[in-house]
Amino acid sequence: MSYFYDLHVHSSECSGCAASSVETLVAAEKAEGYSGFVLTNHFLTGNNCIPKELSWEEKVRCYWNAYLLGKAAGERLDFDVIFGLEHNYGNAQEILIYGIDLDFLLANPDFCSLSGEEICDRVHACGGFVSHAHPFRERGYIPKGNNHLDYSYLDAIEIYNSANTEREDERAMELCERLGLAYTAGNDMHYAPHFATFPHAGLVFDRRIKTSEELVSALRNREGRLQHSGERFFK
Ligand SMILES: [Zn+2]
Ligand SMILES: [Zn+2]
Repeated sequence: MSYFYDLHVHSSECSGCAASSVETLVAAEKAEGYSGFVLTNHFLTGNNCIPKELSWEEKVRCYWNAYLLGKAAGERLDFDVIFGLEHNYGNAQEILIYGIDLDFLLANPDFCSLSGEEICDRVHACGGFVSHAHPFRERGYIPKGNNHLDYSYLDAIEIYNSANTEREDERAMELCERLGLAYTAGNDMHYAPHFATFPHAGLVFDRRIKTSEELVSALRNREGRLQHSGERFFK
């Protein structure tokens, strides 16, 4: 048996740029043959729709609650939903964070003032895992230049993002190989009709991944194999 997971998904409860609820995305990815996904909503320094006036606890509970909604929807469809975040650590450079939970966020109220390297240290201290999202993406919202964190702090590079161009992902794959890091892949899904336009992408595992702990150990052991399909939307 093999199990297909999308490691990069945004839902409208938290991500300002997403147009579908997490329940709708669960159904859409289940229909596409996925076994599960990691919900990686844009965190508070990224494109989020969390009211600014809320307290830290109220804000981070919005992320956790979206995950709980997804998890409940997933359970009805035998589909695994795991908590994660996509965090903009500066200059629109983003990392995908896996293996953290609500307690981690509650315990780190200074999170958004930390450097990318400091965030990696905090995540690692709690057993989490950090992959750099789309490191070579070129879009209007991303300032040009080498604005990224020290890559030696990372666990992985996102080598396939279905909203990237082929060239952007080729460069990410070269970087990943050069650094000798693990890799991740995903759809960067923002709305349910995604698959009508974009190829599907993710990692295939020989075992089911039901928890954050299982995800991090499978990623550390490099058990996932890249799978993707179709033509690129962005050339
Ligand atoms: Zn987005
Ligand atoms: Zn994203």
